Amino acid sequence: MQAFKLVDIVFPRVDMVVKAMVLGSGREVGRACVVIRGESASLMLDCGVHPTAAGLDAIPRLELIDVSSIANAVLTHAHLDHGGAVPRLLKLGFRGKVITTLPTAALVGMMWRDQLSIMEREWPEDFRLWDSREMNSVLARHIKYVTYEEEVRLSSDARLVLHDAGHILGSSFVELEVDGLRIGYTGDLGTSSNHLQYWDASPLRGVDVLFCESTYGGVERKGREALERELVDAVRSTLEGGGKVLIPAMSVGKAQEILLALRRHEAKLPDAPVVLDGMAFRATKIYSQFIMYMSDSIKRALIINGQDPFDWERLFQPKTLRRRRELVEGKDPCMFVAPSGMLKGGWSQWYLAKLAPNPENAVVICGYVDPQTPASELVSGAKEVEVLDFVTRERVKVQVNCKVYHVEISRHAMHSELCKFIATVKPETLVLLHGEKENIDKLISSISSYAKRIEVPENGSTIDLKGRG
Ligand SMILES: [Zn+2]
Ligand SMILES: [Zn+2]
Repeated sequence: MQAFKLVDIVFPRVDMVVKAMVLGSGREVGRACVVIRGESASLMLDCGVHPTAAGLDAIPRLELIDVSSIANAVLTHAHLDHGGAVPRLLKLGFRGKVITTLPTAALVGMMWRDQLSIMEREWPEDFRLWDSREMNSVLARHIKYVTYEEEVRLSSDARLVLHDAGHILGSSFVELEVDGLRIGYTGDLGTSSNHLQYWDASPLRGVDVLFCESTYGGVERKGREALERELVDAVRSTLEGGGKVLIPAMSVGKAQEILLALRRHEAKLPDAPVVLDGMAFRATKIYSQFIMYMSDSIKRALIINGQDPFDWERLFQPKTLRRRRELVEGKDPCMFVAPSGMLKGGWSQWYLAKLAPNPENAVVICGYVDPQTPASELVSGAKEVEVLDFVTRERVKVQVNCKVYHVEISRHAMHSELCKFIATVKPETLVLLHGEKENIDKLISSISSYAKRIEVPENGSTIDLKGRG
């Protein structure tokens, strides 16, 4: 009888279908959510909310899947358009791990507590997406912390690695392998013009599928130096003229970017304090704890001089309303950095109501503005805007006599950077997400030669991807 030799056995190659379901961020910016399902793994990539919607309209199309059948989830970064609906997964039966970095977990915990208090204060009860029990349960039991470049085994045929996306502190893009299929998912990509490490797209080179954000498709910005000069010139001329400056800013990412720009050019600015208020102050404290996640020059300054870029003698948060009043009503020049960036919530509205009527003052709006927000009205030259007084909770009409500047400081990759990312990766299939239709079209016209197949799915679409068994 002939011996049966192991080397003679040839296993046939079986093609397996891996399915990707786009539940959010299809042809829109907001509520990012993609589900990848194969033989060896089921994974949700982000689960965010839409920034301008409320109630169930704000969340991804979770009703299309059985959430309890999803084994794990990845949270790419702390912004709510990527993580704002994660605690809701528990309400729907999810029992797996949420894989993320430690700074993302620290920041998103702070964001969720703020989101919860807004839902409790402003949303009818049946609109609320989740409660404190679900939020605490995710934070205490479901987060799996990983560092960049650490391999996470999901099963014998599935693994993933998070890489630095350079968008905000702790942000990542995902390299994933399921049933032999290599997949990349960008989350939000950073830009070379910020204080974080610039991304390196090479780990995703040649993936079968790339899910790529396209927020700034077709949009180019000036370089970092020019933008910082614009910001500092606007601030300096106002302070020198005896005025005060309000810079409304998103708490996580934008506020820190602005502080670092002001600090870098400190010598050009008159001697005036920088007030940092609301959640932006708490977020900056978290930033200070994770300097190892920032650019090499910031890390070097820490190693050589023990310097924390956010530990700045000009910078403080007023402890009382009285102190805030003294600062806005007093004669001395002052800079105020406060959320929200769109002037739709938080202390920035209160400061605007006090500062905008005086022609000596200035408001500097930084980066993208959501349409139909007070920030976008200011940018388009409105002479009166309506905001909610953060203290009295009343809506007030504000006369805008102050100067209004718009400086394109952003943490998102611009058109040429998105093109460079895609050209480096050269995926078989490119799926464009997280962008308005018009921006996606502009991106496609520049990158169509870098992918064999390009998909622009709507929410609820399923894409069949071939895996190799
Ligand atoms: Zn983001
Ligand atoms: Zn986003």
